[in-house]
Amino acid sequence: MSTYEYDFFVIGAGSGGVRAARTAAALGARTGIAEARFFGGTCVNVGCIPKKLYTYAAHASHDFADSAAYGWHAASRPEFNWSLLKENKDREISRLNGIYKNLLSNAAVDIFEGHARLAGPNRVAIGDREISARHILVAVGGQSFMPPVPGIEHALDSDDFFELSEQPETVLIVGGGYIATELAGVFAGLGTQVTLAYRGDLLLNGFDQDIRSFFTDAIKSYTNLKLNSDIERITESKQKKQVLFSDGTRQTFDAVLYATGRVPATANLGLADNGVELSDVGAIIVDKDFETSTPGVYAVGDVIDRVTLTPVALAEGQALARRLFGGPKQVVSYDLIPAAVFSDPQIATVGMTEDEARSCHKQIDVYRSRFRPLKHTMTGRESYSLMKMLVDRASDRVVGIHMAGDDAAEIMQGMAVALQAGATKAQFDLTIGIHPTAAEEFVTMRTPVSD
Ligand code: NDP
Repeated sequence: MSTYEYDFFVIGAGSGGVRAARTAAALGARTGIAEARFFGGTCVNVGCIPKKLYTYAAHASHDFADSAAYGWHAASRPEFNWSLLKENKDREISRLNGIYKNLLSNAAVDIFEGHARLAGPNRVAIGDREISARHILVAVGGQSFMPPVPGIEHALDSDDFFELSEQPETVLIVGGGYIATELAGVFAGLGTQVTLAYRGDLLLNGFDQDIRSFFTDAIKSYTNLKLNSDIERITESKQKKQVLFSDGTRQTFDAVLYATGRVPATANLGLADNGVELSDVGAIIVDKDFETSTPGVYAVGDVIDRVTLTPVALAEGQALARRLFGGPKQVVSYDLIPAAVFSDPQIATVGMTEDEARSCHKQIDVYRSRFRPLKHTMTGRESYSLMKMLVDRASDRVVGIHMAGDDAAEIMQGMAVALQAGATKAQFDLTIGIHPTAAEEFVTMRTPVSD
């Protein structure tokens, strides 16, 4: 009989923590979970879910405009109401919070609302309460990183975006990654004038070069894009933000939003005091079984900063709970993780970029197709899609697929299954297309582009 109050205690009820707690409880472990802020974590409250809801709102403006070519006539110009969107979003998010809490209590997980920290071997403190647990999981996620620019306190981060009660007429977004490009599309679709400042010369670092060039070009149609640009200083006057750029120019905006990355939220958790080692970027270091340098203390999700995506945290949390409490063995594979940026146009990818494929394989064939989707042959919108497939010539295996364009994320999920299964180009070629779709392009690419 265990002398601990809990077999498993989870700090942080985000994607990874909730999945681990529910899995452990279902396997018979006495499980508790503590959450200081909101159930469901970043993804549900200030990330994936509300962001996707806002992208639907932004997309609706294109749909209104495009419908004219399909015979629709609106008696008056459609008007957008930011407050109504925010109200509806808030209602949906609090419904999801409730669902997350119910999932935990229905799984017989004890819920503690408050900040928890390690308090010694096998001990967690929540306020003045101390709890003992055989295994402790730290799954507290991450937080925005804001560089120390003078006046940075006048800038918003992505958490603040979801709290904005009024729509700014003009916004400066700083950064060129996932959040910056997604929120640029949202703001612009809803009618805000967007300036995007990025320190490099191609957005979406880490993605395939063709996709980066295509996207960097496409976003210019609806943002004022400032490349190779840094911010020297932000000042505030009469609620406007004045920005001094590194090229010496000044501009005034209603809002400035920084999306310059996220860092693990490891402060005030008693980690160092309890021997839990951190990497030089502040991530909790774990071994292949997600155990930290302190036996019995584990970590998963954004706080370990491996692949900071919700489905990865879910897989890590589930794999850990199964290993500790006797479920079916699960190994988290970090290969072939598909990803999507819900920008305008959408970007999605699985497998290697062309540069990676070239450094990994002796010879690769590159298939590339750029086209105007059928829908826009009627609307006249200058909107294009780019699809790209990379094949290792020696084995004929497809090693990377990339897309920019409508429905890219939906299409890429199926492509990821094919790549997991080790699909060859010949098998793609054998597959009959669904006509007329954009996705059929991936099974009809016949001629590689020349090297
Ligand atoms: P990203 O890492 O995607 O992008 C950060 C951007 O900020 C990069 O363009 C980077 O430039 C730039 N940057 C970093 N430091 C500075 C600095 N000091 N000054 C100026 N620019 C700087 O981070 P995000 O914040 O956009 O998103 C965080 C993570 O959250 C993502 O990496 C992703 O894992 C996850 N996420 C996933 C989403 C999805 O799945 N659709 C959506 C949103 C977030 P450089 O490229 O030159 O380094």
